[in-house]
Amino acid sequence: GEALAVSARVAPLGSRLVLLLVEDLTEARRIEAVRRDFVANVSHELKTPVGALSLLSEAVMDASDDPEAVQRFAGRMQIEATRLTNLVQELIDLSRVQNDDPLEDAEPVRVDELVAEAVDRCRHQAGAKQITMAAGGTADLAVWGNRGQLAAALGNLVENAVNYSPARTRVGIAARRVTAPGGDMIELAVTDQGIGISEKDKERVFERFYRVDPARSRATGGTGLGLAIVKHVVASHGGEVTVWSAEGQGSTFTLRLPEAGAARDRASQHPDPD
Ligand code: ADP
Repeated sequence: GEALAVSARVAPLGSRLVLLLVEDLTEARRIEAVRRDFVANVSHELKTPVGALSLLSEAVMDASDDPEAVQRFAGRMQIEATRLTNLVQELIDLSRVQNDDPLEDAEPVRVDELVAEAVDRCRHQAGAKQITMAAGGTADLAVWGNRGQLAAALGNLVENAVNYSPARTRVGIAARRVTAPGGDMIELAVTDQGIGISEKDKERVFERFYRVDPARSRATGGTGLGLAIVKHVVASHGGEVTVWSAEGQGSTFTLRLPEAGAARDRASQHPDPD
């Protein structure tokens, strides 16, 4: 009688264990597939500019008696070299935001400084397209986190807003404090009047190397890694990023990040033992 009772108690536990194990294996397989895809994507993305550079250098050699052609090819080599540099830099940035704990050197970061830095980064491109940039509501707000990573996240959103907008449009950056159960958050919304993103692409644009239009992304120097970096940065800061968009009308990307004071208050409620 007792043996039966024991096995009856063990059996459901056993099957649950097996189920957990199977789930674990499926998850491990999924992670492995994502990793393999990533390596394949990186290889492909590296091959494109390297292949172009190789062809262009051959063209330069063949055209050595035509200085004008040499100039033209050299110009294109420079574009490919820049593309390669951007890609390598973004890969380094991505690996950093995936592996480093950003809160190790967290500090209050003023929102007006973040916005000024992001706007500055795009000033040249925006000027060339006569895009007006306007920021509002940033005074006296601060978020809690890693300055460099937060600047990279907001910079990427503003850069995209400029890149995916036609000439003579407006890019707006609006900040505000919102109350949340776990403590106040700061919302930073970047709005453009650009090409927009379809419903089906909206979920996928945060994936590494996902682009709605690869040719257009390449033409603007895009790597397809920007929004993946943004997503990692906000996640590790305890925030989130959302997107609203209407095709042909524009997009709004919204960052929600812990407010500096609220984050500090939370920390002081659980003081370090030493
Ligand atoms: P990329 O380097 O190609 O800009 P991102 O990861 O920053 O890579 O963005 C992924 C894709 O999402 C872009 O290729 C583009 O198709 C789309 N996208 C991003 N931001 C915007 C925007 N503001 N308006 C329209 N499309 C956008």
